[in-house]
Amino acid sequence: MAAGKRRQKPARTEPVRVVCMHKRPALALGTSTPVGSPDRSPRSRSHGKPRKAPAVSRHVRETVAALRQHCPTPLPVAVKLGRVPDHVEGQTIRNARQFTVRLDRTLDESTLVNVLLHEWAHCCSWSLTHDRVYDEYEAGKLSWAEYEAGTHDGAFGLAFAKVYVAYSTQVLSAPATRKK
Ligand SMILES: [Zn+2]
Repeated sequence: MAAGKRRQKPARTEPVRVVCMHKRPALALGTSTPVGSPDRSPRSRSHGKPRKAPAVSRHVRETVAALRQHCPTPLPVAVKLGRVPDHVEGQTIRNARQFTVRLDRTLDESTLVNVLLHEWAHCCSWSLTHDRVYDEYEAGKLSWAEYEAGTHDGAFGLAFAKVYVAYSTQVLSAPATRKK
């Protein structure tokens, strides 16, 4: 068991790149309700011991399933509900093997799904151009606004439309039948 966990990473590693940092609107601060959790205290985010992983609502799970089925991505996507930097609601990072979409666990369900759709569209529309934009931003050659414009380009817009249609037709308008 220990041997498996201690296995060395392959020699060729690719840097982790931030595909999107979805910033938090100032108005939303402190007003959200945790998804599937009875604890509504905002203090739970920054104090005390780590809590159990938050429960994910059925609506969110169905949305992820619909996106996996109808909106393919060039690399697998891991969706995680947890802590994110204070000023963001969600973010997508990429390494050589996968995208990781991390969503603020304190968001209300509606906001959570909106951020998930946005981040999933980044995964669908990712290209080497987006990597270059990130690298140039990190090197100080691009401003934050230029980074934002470069990663939220036409390809992202088209992908977001497709993602939204999948959500709308497969989740929002789907008959309320219980599936296993
Ligand atoms: Zn974005």
